[in-house]
Amino acid sequence: MKIAKIILGLSLDRSFDYLIPEEMESQVHTGVQVYIPFGKTQRRGYVVGVKNESSYPLDKLKKIDSVCEVHPKIPDTLLRLGKWISEYYCCSQEQAVRALLPSAVRSGKIKRKRIKLYYLVSPEEAQKYIFEKGKKSPARTKVIQLLLQHPGASSEFIKRETSAGKSILTALVKGKMLIEEDKEVYRNPFANTEYVKSAPPELTTEQKAAVDKISGMMGSPAAKPHALLLYGVTGSGKTEVYLRAISVALQQGKDSIVLVPEISLTPQTTERFRSRFGDMVSVLHSSLSDGERFDEWTRIHRGQVKIVVGARSALFAPFKNLGLIIVDEEHENSYKQDEAPRYHARDVAVMRGFMEKAVVILGSATPSFESYHNAYTGKYAMAELTKRIDNCVMPKIKIVDMQIEFMKGAGKIFSGELVDEIRGRLEKGEQTIIFLNRKGFATRMICTKCGYVASCSECSMTYTYSKKRESLSCHLCGAVIPAHKSCPQCGDPEIRYKGLGTERLDNIAEELFPHAKIARMDHDTMTHKDSYEKVLREFRNRKIDILIGTQMIAKGLDFPNVTLVGIINADLSLYFSDFRAEERTFQLLTQVAGRSGRGDIPGEVLIQSFKSQNTAIQCSKNNDYLKFYNEQLVFRKKLNFPPFSHLIIVHFRGPDEKQLAKFADEFLEKLRPHLSKEIKVAGPQPSPMTRIKAKYRYMIMFRGDRMKEFREALRELTLHSKRPTDIDCYVDVDAVNLM
Ligand code: ADP
Ligand code: ZN
Repeated sequence: MKIAKIILGLSLDRSFDYLIPEEMESQVHTGVQVYIPFGKTQRRGYVVGVKNESSYPLDKLKKIDSVCEVHPKIPDTLLRLGKWISEYYCCSQEQAVRALLPSAVRSGKIKRKRIKLYYLVSPEEAQKYIFEKGKKSPARTKVIQLLLQHPGASSEFIKRETSAGKSILTALVKGKMLIEEDKEVYRNPFANTEYVKSAPPELTTEQKAAVDKISGMMGSPAAKPHALLLYGVTGSGKTEVYLRAISVALQQGKDSIVLVPEISLTPQTTERFRSRFGDMVSVLHSSLSDGERFDEWTRIHRGQVKIVVGARSALFAPFKNLGLIIVDEEHENSYKQDEAPRYHARDVAVMRGFMEKAVVILGSATPSFESYHNAYTGKYAMAELTKRIDNCVMPKIKIVDMQIEFMKGAGKIFSGELVDEIRGRLEKGEQTIIFLNRKGFATRMICTKCGYVASCSECSMTYTYSKKRESLSCHLCGAVIPAHKSCPQCGDPEIRYKGLGTERLDNIAEELFPHAKIARMDHDTMTHKDSYEKVLREFRNRKIDILIGTQMIAKGLDFPNVTLVGIINADLSLYFSDFRAEERTFQLLTQVAGRSGRGDIPGEVLIQSFKSQNTAIQCSKNNDYLKFYNEQLVFRKKLNFPPFSHLIIVHFRGPDEKQLAKFADEFLEKLRPHLSKEIKVAGPQPSPMTRIKAKYRYMIMFRGDRMKEFREALRELTLHSKRPTDIDCYVDVDAVNLM
């Protein structure tokens, strides 16, 4: 008898051996879900392997009860990827399998949707019925008349058109007048949306060169390298290159996955794929219902879809014949999942591509240093798009030195120059985007008398004040309390607010430009599912003159009438204690600036900064990625930070700081024997955010190159060693967030 290795829905990283009854042998493979006896109960588990031997005595092994038919099998290739994820990212196999399957599919609670359709047995009989009994049974006659025109109408349609309910239909079926048919249908999120088919435009020379390079790679199975960095400035037509590459995949009969950051999964983006490829595209949007998600997964699994567009998790679309994976805005941090498994979708995409012999395209205007380094050293191929489409020029970028503005005494929040520029745009009917990467009215509430600063009692974080809601909220834990009317410490009513957020910026702009239509886009205003789309629609239709926003407006927006972008306090992201702070600032500024001048009129950008000489700010002004990259790389190399090493952080959380520090020390001691000389250790030390939700936070940072063996030891230790129940500890491999 054969034996199956099975994992359970427990977060134990253990597998159990079960005998496979002979009659099930053909059904039980890796990836299938089965019911097994476990203790006194029955449980559902995943088969992760089939073998001929067990280290347990065979007569002690139990048999699998049955195969779960409703739960589709995960393709083997995906399971292999899951195994790699669990090893590389030091998580359990169970956690990795969770990432592979959407919970809507995993839970088993969702069923396929079925509807009933009705046909006439014979049109002649129907006519006869109307003629003979029409007057006596008007309700039934209506149904029959409808079906003469719409054979195969659904019960819902019949009810809507004739108000005939279930009983009439049943009676007609019994009377042999109608036939009832049961049909499985998909819940289609696009059911009521139209798309206009668009013809592909003529490619530019640069685009053509990129597409040729990619087709070349796709033409040779097991191409080396199999990944390509598409480095193209904003507005250079990267998306068109993606669309052509997908066409090539389609011609080869292969499937494609397109990953975009969740934030840019807007109708504007998805429309471009749908209008080129129509119903072959499935869009995995976070607002899909569980039922829709389940059906989309099923459609992909059955090969009824050839292209999937979605955020991070779309990477695990269950295609069996994958030819292409595209990761748009590959430098985006949102590709890193911040709960277990803490995988980076860009890196896993490269791995999946390698395993399934698919070509991977990583696109960006500001490539991550990791990817650019890989392209530079030849690990990835590279194609460049250096020009915007239609000779549309890159926007002119100017820096306003806010220190000088302050000395002049004039500079408040909006510099005089920015105000003038905005006024000019308002006169000409052109649009402006104002960017500030902080929401709320103010970021600190301060008592001028005793120095009290309102901060969260559970976190090491000052409260953000919202004037509209008269509330204080914590960014870290989300706590919201009513704003104090007087200082809670000394009772003084003189309360001051410091630190600027978009809400206050909005108020100031309204005072400065009383006749302008102003809208704000941040997490405070975008509370409804549709509010995002609504504001974008109004902005596109030029009903809004000035759009103020946070990160939310930095990406993907393509509005030709925007000719001015103002960046307030461009230095904010430089103050993070993170070796990537400059890289992030450069990326963000370049992205935001790229929103300007995408139409016929050249665009301008004003960057207001207190650190105008900073490299990140200077290089984004000059649009000089290479200079920036080369300068920064010197530091990275000196300090042995990525891309010259891999970074692994172990995080510790617990309510008692002393106990936590001690635990972290002991943890490191247990790892010492596995540390090679190449691996550098920093810590244990308190994390930059020392306390969140009443839990203290410590971390140990490991940097090194060949870390396979070390990772194994680390995985073993975090998954299987005992620890006090109130201490949490987890591993973040290739961390992008050091907090
Ligand atoms: P990116 O993704 O690099 O920022 P987009 O793909 O959004 O750039 O392209 C910018 C604009 O140029 C889009 O409106 C797109 O439809 C248009 N475009 C792209 N390629 C071409 C082309 N070859 N000919 C004409 N227009 C193009
Ligand atoms: Zn808090």
